[in-house]
Amino acid sequence: MQYDMPVFRPPSEARSLIFQVTLGCSWNRCLFCAMYKTKTYQIRPWEEVSRDIIEMSWQYPETRKVFLADGDPLEAPTEFLIKVLDLLNERFPALERVSAYAGPTNLRHKSVEDLRELKNRKLDVLYLGIETGNDALLKKIKKGATSSQIIEVSRKAIEAGLRMSTFIILGLGGVEGSYDHAKDSARVANAIDPHFLATLTLMLGPYESIYETKIMGQGFKLIDMKQSLQELRWFVEDLDLTNCKFGSEHASNYLPISGTLPRDKEEILQLIDEALTRKDSDLLRPEWARGL
Ligand code: SF4
Repeated sequence: MQYDMPVFRPPSEARSLIFQVTLGCSWNRCLFCAMYKTKTYQIRPWEEVSRDIIEMSWQYPETRKVFLADGDPLEAPTEFLIKVLDLLNERFPALERVSAYAGPTNLRHKSVEDLRELKNRKLDVLYLGIETGNDALLKKIKKGATSSQIIEVSRKAIEAGLRMSTFIILGLGGVEGSYDHAKDSARVANAIDPHFLATLTLMLGPYESIYETKIMGQGFKLIDMKQSLQELRWFVEDLDLTNCKFGSEHASNYLPISGTLPRDKEEILQLIDEALTRKDSDLLRPEWARGL
């Protein structure tokens, strides 16, 4: 099997076998995201997808976890995805779960019944970027959905029995929008009540100044490390979730945290406060190690 590069997957899918059901991202317009800018979105022909699955089932017959790539395989018709999942179940008898990225622009086209059909065939976890719960910011970054649409599609997936793994991007609102971004993101996370919730921190490398001046404009200023911790504090203090694995372990974050909410909320807040007030920074990931 040959991958059409680049291929992205969430860190938690490191041990999954990846199949590219679609290429690129059908939306591909979010201003902060360059993941699939080199690709034109397409649903790969069934002959190619099935050939990959059969070929890999000879090499890795014990596969238990599969990740469907690229950016939004859920954009493919439900019938197509059913065929893919049926073949995966047939060729990998030990298969336990299938996961994929999903977004408001593709989940919108799926009914609860569609998603249940997929869940019945072991589609289990959907990774969905809330990015921010702030509607003005969602519009500005061209996410293609409002906060209520993000909540609606996520709740629909949960109703179908799927587990939602969601994330927000610290720093997306810049200095000026930091508080509203944090508070609105917590509001949306609470309304979704996902199984997993993570933070990433906006990293733009050499594109920082272009992003500030040309892309976001209007006095937009990226947050620094302390402001990112404060934003995380504002976000976490408002979270009111039923039973959610929370993490900020992604390499883009300054402060790696993991815990279960609501159980560990006070402990997590104490850790953030400690990182905010301490002079030395051994709790924090050094700048050079971010993104590695
Ligand atoms: S929907 Fe996801 S993959 Fe597509 S452009 Fe936006 S952030 Fe990138």
